[in-house]
Amino acid sequence: MKITFLGTGTSQGIPVIGSTHPVCLSTNPKDKRLRVSVLIEWKNYTYVVDCGPDFRQQMLNVKCNKLDGVIFTHEHADHTAGLDDIRPFYFKQGDIPIYAHKRVLKALKRRFDYIFETENKYAGAPGVKPIRIENKPFPLGDLQVVPINGWHYKLQVFGFRFDDFAYLTDMKTIDDAEVEKLKGVKILVVNALRETEHISHFNLKEALALIKKVNPEHAYLTHISHMMGFHDEVEQKLPKNVFLAYDNLEINLNNL
Ligand SMILES: [Zn+2]
Repeated sequence: MKITFLGTGTSQGIPVIGSTHPVCLSTNPKDKRLRVSVLIEWKNYTYVVDCGPDFRQQMLNVKCNKLDGVIFTHEHADHTAGLDDIRPFYFKQGDIPIYAHKRVLKALKRRFDYIFETENKYAGAPGVKPIRIENKPFPLGDLQVVPINGWHYKLQVFGFRFDDFAYLTDMKTIDDAEVEKLKGVKILVVNALRETEHISHFNLKEALALIKKVNPEHAYLTHISHMMGFHDEVEQKLPKNVFLAYDNLEINLNNL
């Protein structure tokens, strides 16, 4: 299984438009972060988790030319706003499966009404095959994916475990029973916004506490704000098995 971080930035991305914060002005490519998403590839399967406003650029960056589906964590725009750009995949492959909680599917139907249109649908609009997921394992390719339920302040969000790899984003709280489902993962990705507290995201300390509980071989932090600091400086301060993710970072789970 190969994981590619397509984006690792918080909702505005880094640099933030118009910002003169030193991290936004940094010339280090690792300090430039598109909105969060990961590409997951194994055997012949290719999926993305979330499809934010940078989706088109991300697909071009990694030269992705086939997509078996999009799995959504929640409905916020930084995770969903790029849905229209699945068009090139739709034109080649037909309806693209989208996996999401029923509340998220409802939100997508509202925002992208033309995609879900059944009568008089515009020929250039993309098509999707909505697949409702609940908090129980569901098939994806030849795997069973395990949803991990968490809370983004008061909004329910799903993280996902794909075999030895788990991906959590936009979480602030997670029940112990859900943490149990993460036991034994080799790679854990967790959102960590910045050092100071935030109402709906783990800060660095909270993310590290969760990582300690799960105890994976390696952990990567994502959904990072410019306020976290410079990539190279922050990484110096992290425990030995914890890293800051950065855009286009690839992890090959077979090589662990
Ligand atoms: Zn987000």
